[in-house]
Amino acid sequence: MSREELAVQRARKSFQTGKSKPLEFRLQQLQGLLRFITERRRDIAQAVHRDLSKSEHGTELFETLGLEGEITLALEKLSEWAAPRPVERNLLTISDQVYIQPQPLGLVLIIGTWNYPWAVTLQPLVGAIAAGNAAVIKPSEVSCHSAKVMEELLPLYLDKELYPVVTGGVSETQELLRQRFDHIFYTGNSTVGRVVMEAAARHLTPVTLELGGKSPCYIDKSCNVAVACRRITWGKFVNCGQTCIAPDYILCEPCIQGRVVEEIRKSIKEFYTDNPKTFEDYGRIINQRHFKRVMALMEGSTVAVGGDSDESQCYIAPTVLQDVMEESKVMSEEIFGPLLPIITVSGVDEAIHFINEREKPLVVYVFSHDNKLIQKVIAETSSGALLANDCLVHFTLSALPFGGVGNSGMGCYHGRHSFDQLSHLRSCLIKQLKMEGVNSMRYPPHTAKKLGWARLLLLKQVNLRRLRRTLLLALLAGMAAFVVQRFLRRR
Ligand code: NAD
Repeated sequence: MSREELAVQRARKSFQTGKSKPLEFRLQQLQGLLRFITERRRDIAQAVHRDLSKSEHGTELFETLGLEGEITLALEKLSEWAAPRPVERNLLTISDQVYIQPQPLGLVLIIGTWNYPWAVTLQPLVGAIAAGNAAVIKPSEVSCHSAKVMEELLPLYLDKELYPVVTGGVSETQELLRQRFDHIFYTGNSTVGRVVMEAAARHLTPVTLELGGKSPCYIDKSCNVAVACRRITWGKFVNCGQTCIAPDYILCEPCIQGRVVEEIRKSIKEFYTDNPKTFEDYGRIINQRHFKRVMALMEGSTVAVGGDSDESQCYIAPTVLQDVMEESKVMSEEIFGPLLPIITVSGVDEAIHFINEREKPLVVYVFSHDNKLIQKVIAETSSGALLANDCLVHFTLSALPFGGVGNSGMGCYHGRHSFDQLSHLRSCLIKQLKMEGVNSMRYPPHTAKKLGWARLLLLKQVNLRRLRRTLLLALLAGMAAFVVQRFLRRR
């Protein structure tokens, strides 16, 4: 039996004991996860530094802070999330208990990626634990230092049988994908997304696919270009552009292109100094393969800012490309690196057309003072999320479902959405064995009269709150009438 198969079998067996279900157990595991992140902050930061040359503060800001927030929220809200959720009844079920009961799905496979190796791997785990599941955790082999630390240290804080970490590359992931799971949560590119979905289909396993794509960013000429460009520079070049929700390219009118280039140049200098290569908050491309891939994307485009690189260090400077053509190489795939192409369009209509001609992105960004224009972009495009006048920050809001649509993915998570995504929302209806007379209308023989009753009882939605209010008012009115008759009339 392979190592992967063994881990899956053990986790499944452990789930079947029922151990992961009690809320106290889930809370205790979530506290363990929180302790892991706080006590092992240093180990995590060192691993991420070795993987991506990120600074310690950068790692805390972009990897672990969000995780801490998600765990704290789950600890606070778990009993509310896990509680039965009453639903509206019709006249036929008015005296029944009707509710949704969230239940664990079973065994979840979490496949992580390398760009934020901790956040994208452990955030789904928060949802899996909160929902009462077992989970096999497969970190990306590409961020190998983070994977090693996860494999060595995480089991010291969590139940080892229920939440094993399985490391390895493509063949190990494929071996895992041959096993049966109750849900697969995959983060990565859409080509492998298809492989995951195909494997899941063999067992009819539901999937969440957190994929990528080219997120466009439209800058309206009426907006404050300096502020817009500072925010875009931040969103694009953080983690060297290796962020799934980074703005991939800019769309703007030709009349502001020069200003956009200059403002981004200024912001790059403000954030990363004249020499980003030696500045600790500017990272590196993950490996030589990706370095070569990103460098090749520059071919045929005009460099307006940056453009220099050092293969020995996997360094590529923050780079802006101007007057980029639709057919150019840089527009052929998700960049996932520090290149920011600018494509000129005649206005918002052409920008919308440009966006709609392509796959649905993870995010559409729009910068404008004009709320009508923002609303137009919301109404006429589709994407996982829409963000106006800022970059990336929607990721930090647990109330917003995070995920893609179409080619950028399916399913979503964060906060309660993670809990719901990894739960089975079970419908429960509990009737009494009384009032059998009411049921006669559904038993044969079927007649027009019975159908009339069925129509009334099934189609009428009952607003119980309003009904209660009406009954209360009727009761109060009756009491008032009684008081008036009995006492006041006597006088
Ligand atoms: P990657 O190479 O680390 O692959 C991800 C996982 O898939 C790894 O665990 C790897 O073992 C496995 N894998 C790779 N090839 C496989 C194969 N042929 N069969 C089975 N398993 C395989 O990561 P990547 O794909 O380079 O990640 C980058 C992509 O992820 C980008 O497109 C980015 O936009 C996307 N991403 C999306 C999100 C999101 O939340 N939507 C977050 C981060 C990254």
